[in-house]
Amino acid sequence: MCALKRTAALFSPEDPFGELKKNPSLPAGLRRRFNDRVLIMTTSECFARCPHCTRAFILGKTETVDTEEKLEKCVQYVKKHPEIRDVLLSGGDVLTLSNAAVKRLVDAFASLEQIDIVRICTRALVDKPERITDSLARLLARSGKVWANVHINTAAEALRAAPAAARLVNKGIPVSSQTVLLKGVNDTPEKMLLLLRKLSAARIRPYYVFQCDPVAAIEKRFGVPLKKAKAIEKYCAEHIGGLSLPRFVADLPSSLRKTPLDLL
Ligand code: SF4
Repeated sequence: MCALKRTAALFSPEDPFGELKKNPSLPAGLRRRFNDRVLIMTTSECFARCPHCTRAFILGKTETVDTEEKLEKCVQYVKKHPEIRDVLLSGGDVLTLSNAAVKRLVDAFASLEQIDIVRICTRALVDKPERITDSLARLLARSGKVWANVHINTAAEALRAAPAAARLVNKGIPVSSQTVLLKGVNDTPEKMLLLLRKLSAARIRPYYVFQCDPVAAIEKRFGVPLKKAKAIEKYCAEHIGGLSLPRFVADLPSSLRKTPLDLL
């Protein structure tokens, strides 16, 4: 049995990556699985309602960092752990918040010397591109530490995201894409290769292609067999340069790293 199947039983929709179970004393709204980074649940709203969303169960329900007091507790936690150098502003989608709230969150972490990267995790480039204004891009670029991470699954979405990506990249903000390999959506070598080409043309770095999380209902509807996923990975590696080639991985709650398909 592959690791993906073995760990399926560990997934719970309320705590999909076991972060709360492992660290029940973390500040409200802060999640930590890995040594050098933390995730901040900034909001439970999202521009998208992806049917394969592992966090769908908690969208609209989870505790978020929505007060100065909660934000301060998260900042203090990070300061007490100097090994943390990367903060993900996620949720939900941090860009559903106002510019003032986004600025407060970015500044709170980017101002810490130990922090090298503040990641904005967003679907706005695809689902609400008008949210990426020049003034927002300027605001995000000020610290020199912000990166944007977008969830893009098809070539059509990459094309939709391209103008907003350009507004960010032109201000010096690196933009990367994470894709989920989805049955019936992008699970052929040709569709995946086209997606990677369109992302690269938009100056969006393809970063990860994830196997669908092993939540039973999601996997049944969207899961792509491992053998097929490996064949897609091989085809892409043979048809596109390394700069445009993402890592094909699974995100397993029991693992301290994103797991390459070869290890499954
Ligand atoms: S963009 Fe991400 S958080 Fe929002 S619904 Fe889709 S998978 Fe879930």
